[in-house]
Amino acid sequence: MPDHDVVAKRVEINGIVQGVGFRPFVYALARRYGLTGDVANTSSGVVIHIEGSSRNIGSFLEDLEKNHPPLARITKILHFPEKCLSPAAFSISDSQPPARFATFISPDVAVCEDCRRELFDPVDRRFRYPFINCTNCGPRYTIIDDIPYDRPGTSMKDFVMCPACQAEYDDPANRRFHAQPNACAACGPSLRLLDNAGKDLEAPDPVNEAARRLKAGHIVAVKGLGGFHLVVDAANNEAVKRLRTRKHREEKPFALMAGDMAAIEAFAHVAPEEARLLNSFKRPIVLLRKQEGHGLSPRVSPKNRYFGTMLPYTPLHYLLFAHGFEALVMTSGNRSEEPIAIDNTDALHRLSPIADYFLVHNRDIYLPCDDSIVRHAKGAVRLIRRARGYVPAPVFLKYRSPPVLACGAALKNTICLTREDNAFISQHIGDLENPAAYDFFCSTIDRMTHMLGISPRIIACDQHPDYLSTRYAEEQQSLPKVHVQHHHAHIASVMAENQIDGPVIGLAFDGAGLGTDNTIWGGEVLMADLCSFSRMAHFTALPMPGGAAAIKAPWRMAVSYLFDAFGEEMFDLGLPLFTAVDVKKIQVVVEMAKKRINSPLTSSLGRLFDGVSAICGVRYVAAFEGQAAMELEMAARQEAAGGYDGEWMDAGTIDIPTGPIIRQVVGDMTKGISPAVISQKFHMTLIRLFSRICGDIRRETGVNTAALSGGVFQNTTLLSGMIDSLENKGFDVFSNSLVPVNDGGISLGQAMVAAAAAGK
Ligand code: ZN
Ligand code: ZN
Ligand code: FE
Repeated sequence: MPDHDVVAKRVEINGIVQGVGFRPFVYALARRYGLTGDVANTSSGVVIHIEGSSRNIGSFLEDLEKNHPPLARITKILHFPEKCLSPAAFSISDSQPPARFATFISPDVAVCEDCRRELFDPVDRRFRYPFINCTNCGPRYTIIDDIPYDRPGTSMKDFVMCPACQAEYDDPANRRFHAQPNACAACGPSLRLLDNAGKDLEAPDPVNEAARRLKAGHIVAVKGLGGFHLVVDAANNEAVKRLRTRKHREEKPFALMAGDMAAIEAFAHVAPEEARLLNSFKRPIVLLRKQEGHGLSPRVSPKNRYFGTMLPYTPLHYLLFAHGFEALVMTSGNRSEEPIAIDNTDALHRLSPIADYFLVHNRDIYLPCDDSIVRHAKGAVRLIRRARGYVPAPVFLKYRSPPVLACGAALKNTICLTREDNAFISQHIGDLENPAAYDFFCSTIDRMTHMLGISPRIIACDQHPDYLSTRYAEEQQSLPKVHVQHHHAHIASVMAENQIDGPVIGLAFDGAGLGTDNTIWGGEVLMADLCSFSRMAHFTALPMPGGAAAIKAPWRMAVSYLFDAFGEEMFDLGLPLFTAVDVKKIQVVVEMAKKRINSPLTSSLGRLFDGVSAICGVRYVAAFEGQAAMELEMAARQEAAGGYDGEWMDAGTIDIPTGPIIRQVVGDMTKGISPAVISQKFHMTLIRLFSRICGDIRRETGVNTAALSGGVFQNTTLLSGMIDSLENKGFDVFSNSLVPVNDGGISLGQAMVAAAAAGK
């Protein structure tokens, strides 16, 4: 039946719609609904001319919004009536966007369903090909060397497509139309299995051979998307133990990969929102509660309630899991805190003392990118490490910003670049404490400014003069600098990602950041907007005996708090600490604190957690930063009620003494009350205390918005409790979700403060 109701529309779409398979998607959709017209890239997105029945155009528009390719992100979609041009068919116009407009670059993406089906289809020409990909999936960010994003600008430049691959690449209706990493076994990258001397084992099927060796308990370094993993069978306790010994990583949890959701559910609880995270194309490591009686090695994640778990995200991973592993340990291929290895030669050099075999390939990785780590807490995704899958997708800002380069903090460093109303935060770079990490930091700045076409006009950094990131900023002599206080940056990161102006009451709880009075802050209540802040309340600063040494030795902080609360009488309290640690050492630490020798003052809540952890006998010495605090949280028994109380709780002081809390913790210890109950009471105390303080500040100032940030909020008991308590009091409460609450989010906050300063 002829359709009399033919209309035409012009559809303008803004957002991440280029290089993500958007035009082939529009083409297929138009054909499905029998529509004619064309689609073209523009400087700001995509424009479509569409003709057909208004009902079919309606369905087309609905699908456009709802079912677009996973990598696309539509920020705005407008449509207007147009004159009918009666084109014969629907076509993709080959126009490229003007070069002066830098577009968005897609993150690396997990292998899609279509490719996975082909991977295991014996009649498909890419059957078992470990580098199968299409416009909807595969490597992006880590293989790009230059813009514009097309094949010569990627590490695929040395692979010349065979005629079959080229035909797919050139066909607008094909899933691989302009898929830059398109390849097959005839023309693309390939795998090799090496021993740890670098000798090629010439295995006919390197994946099968690697799987066989993993089954036998060997450690295999596997080259992935953003770098090498060190891999062992997670069910093999001896193998996991060997990996811990060789990697010198005694306790920090290892990440896991399992073949599918059913395999994960055998060792962890998975809530529906966690399943969505696991399955998303970003394929992050998701923190999942352990299942009782799981069959994995207890050494994977000792003294922790969680398994960090991910699903396979490359074809190679799927091929490995076809061999039926319950789960594989997949930990970053590095030595201690160095950046992850990406180059075959470098990996052999650095990882041969750890790995027995190397499963390598010849597609270069240009930029290391670790696995992202996330959890679901208090109704939102919480990023712990933002990297693969998330980077370099921007955080969308409320205002346009001048081009700023923000250099981040010292630990868990990231950098941030702004362009108009976008903030591009780099992948997790790591702790800027060794030359390799600093090189990675510098090369990330170079690559990101180049790729995104950003020439910074302002540079932002921390106020700490000794951070390598601050020193880098100081060296950029041609650029004006903005030094941003660490906790102001934490709070600004919350304001930026939630697009709020402030003022806000900011709770900035973390391990350490230099304060404006030259003490180390970290338990701060700020009144802040993007331009400025004032310090409204904080813990009384106490000595941190040995400075950084106290971070690795929480018992030192315990001694400092105890000495403050009890003086010399602390030795008579009968605490387990005084038998666990050599009393002579404790005496030395007391002297250091008393005479303020190498004992900077700190108001850090992270250190208070450490101290209470050691007072309760949970942990005296930490293998990694925050371990004592984390184990104190893990110890907390949710059903225990109440907290510590007293006049001090309502005293209204801006200088909060720790003594009353410490004395009540010790009181409970001497009564034989379990650390589980003490920990819960300690958490409840902090929640009540800071809610009360926020309430007081609101009475004085009328500000009803609270912003929560800082690494201590990785503690979900505290985060959830604090949000509940403040919301019950009627506060609007915001925290981080798009960037980490820890120092990984600092660069975003720095950039926002610098942009606000420039706009004043
Ligand atoms: Zn695909
Ligand atoms: Zn090919
Ligand atoms: Fe911090």
